[in-house]
Amino acid sequence: MLVTQGPQFNGKASKRLHVMAKPIGAACNIDCTYCYYLSKQDLLEYKKGCSPKMDDETLETYIRQYIEGQNTPEIIFSWQGGEPTILGLAYFRKIVELQKKYQPAGVKIANDLQTNGTLLNDEWCEFLAQHQFLVGLSIDGPELLHNAYRTNKAGRGTFKQVMKAVDLLHKHKVKFATLTCVNNLTSKNPLDVYRFLRDVVKSPQMQFIPIVEQKTFRTTAPQTWHPQTQLRQGDKRLNPWHKNSVVEPWCTSAEAWGDFLIAVFDEWVNNDIGKVFVQYFEASVETWMGRKNPLCTLGEICGKGLAMESNGDVFTCDHYVYPEYQVGNIHHQKLDEMAYSSEQQKFGFAKSRTLTSQCQQCDYKFACYGECPKNRFIRTKDGEPGLNYLCAGWKKFFNHADSTLTYILRATGHPVANGKFRDGLLKAHSPQYSYVHNRA
Ligand code: SF4
Ligand code: SF4
Repeated sequence: MLVTQGPQFNGKASKRLHVMAKPIGAACNIDCTYCYYLSKQDLLEYKKGCSPKMDDETLETYIRQYIEGQNTPEIIFSWQGGEPTILGLAYFRKIVELQKKYQPAGVKIANDLQTNGTLLNDEWCEFLAQHQFLVGLSIDGPELLHNAYRTNKAGRGTFKQVMKAVDLLHKHKVKFATLTCVNNLTSKNPLDVYRFLRDVVKSPQMQFIPIVEQKTFRTTAPQTWHPQTQLRQGDKRLNPWHKNSVVEPWCTSAEAWGDFLIAVFDEWVNNDIGKVFVQYFEASVETWMGRKNPLCTLGEICGKGLAMESNGDVFTCDHYVYPEYQVGNIHHQKLDEMAYSSEQQKFGFAKSRTLTSQCQQCDYKFACYGECPKNRFIRTKDGEPGLNYLCAGWKKFFNHADSTLTYILRATGHPVANGKFRDGLLKAHSPQYSYVHNRA
């Protein structure tokens, strides 16, 4: 089931769903080179000159359905774009009012807001702090790296405006996390990026996103690719810098992604463990302990987070906002029905069901599950289609981190359920061992 059938709440079965709402569609005040969403303006055929702003009726319908579709102690709204702050503070005050109108007794309502930060000011930050929004701030590292691709419509870098937002978020004690895109440039400068986020931005929580897009991504939906067109792992045309590359030049390569994670991981382990929160590393600790991966991209099942455009159109996932993956519209179907539909469940279970045999036999399947299906556009060296573009990088990182994660867990008295040094395996092979670890 995609539905969380947890313990009872308010005398009924617990029921949860998650939607990333885009109240301003793909509209944005800046123009990042690698943005995966700006092109939706053409793909989804927004009427020329027509505002992609979610109208009052759609907004209220959405908030009501989102609350009515859940039965949990806390309901979390996620606002994304495009750039949602374009809508102005009054729009967000209205959102909070509508949430209060439909808020059931004993249920907490929380909000996430993803932003490029350039429009934030004191008034915005007072509001975000007052209503305890969790802000996701996009920042790619020091000035040169950030400005390479995160530019305004005139082509100028947005670094100074984003750093102003960082100061404001700290000043007003707004809860925030940083989202950093790992592209062809940032992937080559892992420590500059990480130390900047840690020491200058003082990021309370770091999320790194590998940038991977095929050249056809603006118009072609994932999984509609012809298997025969997929290149084999190791083909030079999978490198972003190759003149005939199938991916955009600003993407990270698989190898560079692995090297980036390794460099940041070693710095984190040696200096910052327990002090700095890096989402991928915390998730890895969980999976080595035998728990479920909290991240959809590395988990067994996906499709738990739908995406909704400003007109109420609902899609299977934020990375699948293509006409082929529309599951309905809130003016015609209820959100919870779409979220729990057989179509959506099929989408979610396909993540595990369609793994290549290379993934099935992989030592790190438990930590990766073939990563996001959006990135499964290459063939294994044996020619099987549907392998993840980032596979080599993920494997390199997991191989590197395995012994250290084992060490961390044993040193803190936790079980090691997975990996090459997992408890049962070591005991079986080496009954007298008490602690085995090779830290280089
Ligand atoms: S398609 Fe990718 S991003 Fe979407 S839910 Fe699945 S793993 Fe997550
Ligand atoms: S590391 Fe590669 S082979 Fe292993 S599960 Fe991930 S994508 Fe599949």
